[in-house]
Amino acid sequence: MTPPFPQLDYLVIACHPDDAEIGCGGAILSLKAQGAKVGVLDLTDGEPTPHGSPDIRRRETEAATEILQLDWRGNLGLPNRSLVADLESRRLVATMIRQLRPRVLLTHYWADAHPDHVAASALVDAARFWAKLSKTDMAGVPHQPAKILYFPSMHLRLHLKPSFVLDVTPYHERKMQALACYHSQFIAGRPATPLTIFDDIIARARYYGWTIGALYGEPFLCREEIGVRDLRQLS
Ligand SMILES: [Zn+2]
Repeated sequence: MTPPFPQLDYLVIACHPDDAEIGCGGAILSLKAQGAKVGVLDLTDGEPTPHGSPDIRRRETEAATEILQLDWRGNLGLPNRSLVADLESRRLVATMIRQLRPRVLLTHYWADAHPDHVAASALVDAARFWAKLSKTDMAGVPHQPAKILYFPSMHLRLHLKPSFVLDVTPYHERKMQALACYHSQFIAGRPATPLTIFDDIIARARYYGWTIGALYGEPFLCREEIGVRDLRQLS
């Protein structure tokens, strides 16, 4: 990844290619429809998997990126299956935050069965703090995103109590199109009959949509309070 980097409004930091799409594909499309600049930083290439390869994953990611209309997408090349929130990884992620300067970060919910997802969440927490440091040789400028929003892209089946649910009804179909780009992960070698991974993703979107009186919703958690400027926006 070489400069110049665009200045982003929102940066999704996800462990594996396809996690951003699962966890917040609808939010990305919603933000893009409102004119925000949105990027995704994938931490690993997600390989090895039973039906994937680095080349296949790269092509799938490019196709999904096109559908999401992202302003920027990069891959940090950290080790899949053995991601660790160590100092060197923190430095790499913090450097990307200092260069892309997003107002808000989105990343994995902090609890999961997948150790990479847990490490990614911790890594983003620490890198957000490091990104604002002065008197450092990290590239970019000191920058602290105002919030981290956490999305479930999970291997645990938990009932989460979200901080808020975003109505993604107008964007649900395109989110599913973006997910379908990841043929090696969701379709190859898997039964085509219910319950497919897509059935589960749609059911969760419908469930969280139900909680706010919408057709489809995406849940987000935040450790800090969420400010609201306009009560008429509540649903
Ligand atoms: Zn993942």
